[in-house]
Amino acid sequence: MKPLGSDWGYRDPSTARDRLSGAHASLRMTVKIMKIDARFRTRVILIGVCAVFVFLFAPSPLAHAAAEMQVFSTSAGPVKITPIYHASTLIEAGGKTIYLDPAKPAKLSGLPKADLILITDIHGDHMDPESIKEVIKAETEILAPPAVVVTVTTAKPIANGETKNWQGWTIEAIPAYNLKRGPSPEKLFHDKGRGNGYVLTYGGKRFYFSGDTEGVPEMRALKNIDVAFVCMNLPYTMPPEEAADAVKAFHPKVVIPYHYHGSDLAVFQKGLEGTGIEVRLLEWYPK
Ligand code: ZN
Repeated sequence: MKPLGSDWGYRDPSTARDRLSGAHASLRMTVKIMKIDARFRTRVILIGVCAVFVFLFAPSPLAHAAAEMQVFSTSAGPVKITPIYHASTLIEAGGKTIYLDPAKPAKLSGLPKADLILITDIHGDHMDPESIKEVIKAETEILAPPAVVVTVTTAKPIANGETKNWQGWTIEAIPAYNLKRGPSPEKLFHDKGRGNGYVLTYGGKRFYFSGDTEGVPEMRALKNIDVAFVCMNLPYTMPPEEAADAVKAFHPKVVIPYHYHGSDLAVFQKGLEGTGIEVRLLEWYPK
């Protein structure tokens, strides 16, 4: 008979050895985990550093906007104008934000919300309800040609030839239309009376945005324009040589081609050589 409880007192020496080697094993494991942990931490730090570099130096829409922003001094303080994409433009002055033609594929996230939105015409590169939604806030006002108000029903109409005042700005609607170019001989891309260009005056400086137009008499007759943003692209508006000819007629101090996709801007520059008009080229098509 086994003495009672002998099983309880029994110790297998191998168990103690196992326990000892088990302790070593768990120590080795802990060291291993710590090593993995350190490697992991190093990797996380490296990834973090790379992310910061990518954020700082990659061509982000905001970095592009900051690099291309133009600042013009006026008697009411600086006016900052930033090309966003094609016709989409950001204008900032006196703590107010204005967008002209916010439309896809302009990247608008991260940009300030609009106090005012100006729209020039009904085509998708000028009137884009989804892009409007991206920059709008409760107090945003929208001014647009009556043909745009049909779709953007929250907009107030401003027709060719009308003038409105808004927060220190004077806004004049200038006719924008085709003289001869259209999808067929009887049709024009932009009919007279539908689309607006705008002359925006602030602190005594006059900024002109042509909208989609050819070199129409109303453009050629403009007076005292400090900075003109003029379109050029075929088949919809006009070629660069025609744009240069129209710009010569109203002689702004500075001209900035915009809405120029596919146009040779060197031709435009050459057309204005020796006129004293400063041609400023900006990147309106960031990748
Ligand atoms: Zn257009």
